[in-house]
Amino acid sequence: MACAQSGAKMDFEKYAPVSTLVVPEHKLHRARYPFIDVHNHQWNMSVSDLNNLVKDMDKLNMAVMVNLSGGNGNQLKTKTDNIRSTAPKRFIVFANVDFGGVGKAGWAEAAVKQLEEDVQHGANGLKIFKNLGFSVKDNDGKRVTVDDPRLDAIWNKCGELKIPVLIHTADPKSFWDEEDEHNERWLELATHPNRKRGATNPVPFETLIEEQHRLFKKHPKTTFIAAHFGWYPNDLGKLGQLMDALPNIVVEFGAVIAELGRQPKAARAFFEKYQDRILFGKDSWVPEEYATYFRVLETEDEYFPYHKKYHAFWAMYGMGLSDSILKKVYYKNALRIIPNIDKSQFPN
Ligand SMILES: [Zn+2]
Repeated sequence: MACAQSGAKMDFEKYAPVSTLVVPEHKLHRARYPFIDVHNHQWNMSVSDLNNLVKDMDKLNMAVMVNLSGGNGNQLKTKTDNIRSTAPKRFIVFANVDFGGVGKAGWAEAAVKQLEEDVQHGANGLKIFKNLGFSVKDNDGKRVTVDDPRLDAIWNKCGELKIPVLIHTADPKSFWDEEDEHNERWLELATHPNRKRGATNPVPFETLIEEQHRLFKKHPKTTFIAAHFGWYPNDLGKLGQLMDALPNIVVEFGAVIAELGRQPKAARAFFEKYQDRILFGKDSWVPEEYATYFRVLETEDEYFPYHKKYHAFWAMYGMGLSDSILKKVYYKNALRIIPNIDKSQFPN
């Protein structure tokens, strides 16, 4: 019978072998220290009962969640009001810029004024989504580049207000590559065809990334949090060069822990070198997925599964970070960079 099956083909999507490797396992459902997730999205924070969210956070030892989807104006204010009255210490909200009308007379002044008002209403940072660079158009229908000088006043204001800008530009480079058997993200592109990019859709990966780096360089007094390790989690040498050149940037590892977990030695060396400039981020709010993050950061476990095959068909290894580095990554760096987080919730 086995012989009859031996030549059978199987879909890559179906193949999910159970590892027979027997090694010590340390499955973690809670972080070793209270932590701040600097990359989260909550869409209905304005009306929902935050107590349920807090219960889920407590299970993970998440002391503070940073909701990057604050919006602006009244939308933002209803969120910060709700937080103040229910769980003031547990949530931080970042504002978002409305890019409609870039290039119209007075647009930048109005955007800056809105941001100042949002900060008065309790925003503690600005989040820029990847639509800047991808799809934001100016008044004449032209793509607004990430480093467009018409936005300069916004970045300068963030520096002045001492609030960080968390910015997501572009996507994994593989989304621009041929969608074939050599592409590490083939499965993600096959299951999410709208993520495919190309040289003219809208521009090459390198163009977007270079725009972002010029933006960082042009505003040295503004602190930027490069989301998703600046999309260089798979080339930490390159990311290190960028961080050496630009002291105003820090990084967070939302959605890229699978890249770190496949290179535990290089990643650990990177965390040792840049221990003051790495923040904990996750991105999508799926509480059970945090276990992978804790295990890669804290343990020295070998060859354990990642939670999403279209990000990684490979297994994870733990970095086994020291307690002092874990504390920095889990909360100390965020406490330094994001204003108004209640410090009493964290150990020294
Ligand atoms: Zn995000």
